[in-house]
Amino acid sequence: MKILVINAGSSSLKYQLFDMDKETVMAKGLCERIGIEGSQLKHQPNGREAITISKSMKNHADAIKMVIDALLDVNHGVIQDMGEIAAVGHRIVHGGEYFSGSVVIDEKVKAAINECAALAPLHNPPNLIGIEACQEVMPGVPMVGVFDTAFHQTMPSEAYLYAIPYELYEKYKIRKYGFHGTSHKYVAQRAAALLNKPIEDLKIITCHLGNGSSITAVKNGKSIDTSMGFTPLAGVVMGTRSGTIDPAIVTFLMEKENLSLKEVNDLLNKKSGVLGLSGISSDFRDIEAAANEGNKRAQLALEIFEYSVRKYIGEYAALMGGVDAVVFTAGIGENNGVIRKRILKGLDFMGIKIEEQKNNIRGKEIDISTEDAKVRTLVIPTNEELMIALDTKKLVEQ
Ligand code: AMP
Repeated sequence: MKILVINAGSSSLKYQLFDMDKETVMAKGLCERIGIEGSQLKHQPNGREAITISKSMKNHADAIKMVIDALLDVNHGVIQDMGEIAAVGHRIVHGGEYFSGSVVIDEKVKAAINECAALAPLHNPPNLIGIEACQEVMPGVPMVGVFDTAFHQTMPSEAYLYAIPYELYEKYKIRKYGFHGTSHKYVAQRAAALLNKPIEDLKIITCHLGNGSSITAVKNGKSIDTSMGFTPLAGVVMGTRSGTIDPAIVTFLMEKENLSLKEVNDLLNKKSGVLGLSGISSDFRDIEAAANEGNKRAQLALEIFEYSVRKYIGEYAALMGGVDAVVFTAGIGENNGVIRKRILKGLDFMGIKIEEQKNNIRGKEIDISTEDAKVRTLVIPTNEELMIALDTKKLVEQ
């Protein structure tokens, strides 16, 4: 069975075609500048040279048509007939309280995704446009929606409610939703497989540390708390996002700096985090290089980031009454052994102990704990696209 996975943004569209019999990627690529001058498709058939096709794409339907053409092309294609694509899985950012799992998309689902657009105005509208473009170009092919928020819908009310007037939750659905759910679910499942234990018997802390970062407590296979909140601004310090701060800072800043709503929102989302602290970059590689050269603010930015992640590990171990495994994933979690080691500093009292040599290995699934560690520390490269393809397969086979 072949499944196409689509991640549609406002002017971009990423895709991967999976052969689900082997769970391998046949081709992947990216359409950029959709609806803007200079649009192009980068297409990478597995094991062969990548190509770039520059051609006008007026809208997402044009982009999908180009993707299908590239997949069918005699030279760089990977399938003979569009009918080989059994289903399409769509990444959707916000499912609100409507979706606690992936679903086959129908008109009711589309209406609910549209309703959740108020909660994710930058993401849900283009996600919906991506679905409709696929429906137009591939009529009759089943479409599945996989939501970033769905995995966290199992959180209990004490985890997801904020202590603001309850009516505001009822009126606007202001609550913690959490994000990166597809990634947390994938790495938690892989962790259970690696440990050779049923996920239902495990307490796992998953640390998705990338440009955006979030930590999740996964107890018996279910998310019981996560660090991001109503929006992806909350939680740990990130590349450009502040993470959790005292909310009174917002009104203080607006008054003192005479900032508008948009300006304060930009400041916290785009100019804060390790970028704001270091004044250098949002990319951890640049900050690490500067820190190694003795830049004090770069060193401070790294320490504050590591401290914020360490706090969540302690918090979630307490909430779950212990922890069996800590998992690191995403750009920093998968690749940066130095930061992993520094995050875990002082946690040996909990039974977390890592082996230096194993911690230096990158980009592959590995247990980096010492033999005698009570808690397993795992590095697991995330694969949100494969998770979307797996959910899609499961739903269309039912
Ligand atoms: P992501 O959002 O998951 O793509 O992660 C982006 C972050 O991961 C950036 O801050 C990068 O500095 C970091 N990152 C990606 N690759 C590496 C690498 N090979 N070594 C260290 N950090 C990396």
